[in-house]
Amino acid sequence: MEIINRRQRMSSVARKIRRDQDRTIGLVPTMGALHDGHLSLVREARRMCDVVVVSVFVNPTQFGPTEDYEHYPRDLTKDTALLTDYNVDYIFAPSADEIYPKDFCTYVNVGGLSKPLEGETRPGHFRGVATVVAILLNTIRPDFSFFGQKDAQQAVVIKRMVRDLAFETEIVVLPTVREDSGLAISSRNLYLNDEEQQSASVIHRALSKAKETYKKGERHGSKIEDIVRTTIESEPRVRVDYVSVVDANTLEKLDKLDDRPMLIAVAAYVGKTRLIDNTMLNKVNKDGSNSKI
Ligand code: AMP
Repeated sequence: MEIINRRQRMSSVARKIRRDQDRTIGLVPTMGALHDGHLSLVREARRMCDVVVVSVFVNPTQFGPTEDYEHYPRDLTKDTALLTDYNVDYIFAPSADEIYPKDFCTYVNVGGLSKPLEGETRPGHFRGVATVVAILLNTIRPDFSFFGQKDAQQAVVIKRMVRDLAFETEIVVLPTVREDSGLAISSRNLYLNDEEQQSASVIHRALSKAKETYKKGERHGSKIEDIVRTTIESEPRVRVDYVSVVDANTLEKLDKLDDRPMLIAVAAYVGKTRLIDNTMLNKVNKDGSNSKI
């Protein structure tokens, strides 16, 4: 395994793999502090692709001015050890200056999809995400790029960018990996103490309860949202930022629910830590059938 810090080296290595060796490349973009969620993407990339590149880059442009960019957990030594165990071929770990040279001024804006949900609380977040992913895709030109359903809106935004700007990569979205308690695994869980971790598991319980209610026939989006909100707020340490039932492809907020793929998306504060999670309604499987889970 090689750790690459320079954009130019990364693109020349990737070019050789594609052109001279005719091998497929899988990219797993991450901000490091790797956990089982990231590793599930790496495992699938390893299964599907000849060469696996994992990028580890805490992207400054996707953090707001009052957010945790400075304090975001970083441990490249530990990440490298984990990725060695997973037989990853390259880690791309550039500095912020390498990605954003001094006179950098070109950004990618994925219109309306960046505005609701996370976009309301984190204006500019998806502009940063789309921009860095565009740079990674252009540098590496992967055949497949792997993302987690945990960040559902991010996956929708990236898929749309790839379609609209004609990037030649296939986006693969993989299920959310959870702790035994149901809590979605996240690098930010490191900010939580044991009690807060326990309390945070209410988020998944709330989403599961709402999904069950939908399955029993409830078709009012506002009722589904109320169930999530009241269940979460029965836990005194947890405060809802938003809960919204949206079309899984357009992110349009829905009140009359039907049989299309939909998303119940939630963000909540546990103490000062902001967590997001979601569940799909009417998930469409790869073979086109509807998932019952
Ligand atoms: P991050 O390092 O938080 O930017 O995440 C990198 C990638 O890992 C993103 O595509 C995330 O959606 C994905 N990811 C993060 N947590 C999980 C999880 N618990 N399960 C599955 N994928 C995840």
